[in-house]
Amino acid sequence: MSDQDCLFCKIIAGEIPSEKVYEDETTYAFKDINPKAKVHVLVVPRKHYANVAELAQADPAQLAHTAEVAQKIADQEFHGAFRLIFNTGIDAGQTVFHVHAHVLTGEKLDE
Ligand code: 5GP
Ligand code: ZN
Repeated sequence: MSDQDCLFCKIIAGEIPSEKVYEDETTYAFKDINPKAKVHVLVVPRKHYANVAELAQADPAQLAHTAEVAQKIADQEFHGAFRLIFNTGIDAGQTVFHVHAHVLTGEKLDE
């Protein structure tokens, strides 16, 4: 998929509105439209990679930074506790093919 057709590229470019939670030069984070926890944020590298495996291979520092941003959000929202999920592949529930970390926090989560 080209960046032009990508929902998250459009959100990062501001062409589609989103509720921003955090941003820096490389990373944009916003509230998930269909939250699965009290706080459900998507942390998204600005550069388009299809999934976490591609990101890990191409830019491991950006993958590490994604985890750091998740921690920052959880520090603000819920004393640092969070769940970090990368759905990878259709059969794992991935629906948007621009790598994103789901950060679930803000409340005690089921095991
Ligand atoms: P995936 O299923 O690919 O792991 O996650 C995609 C996530 O993006 C879903 O949790 C879905 O609720 C969220 N999402 C889909 N479209 C939009 C949108 O237009 N805005 C926002 N904020 N979230 C979206
Ligand atoms: Zn994209």
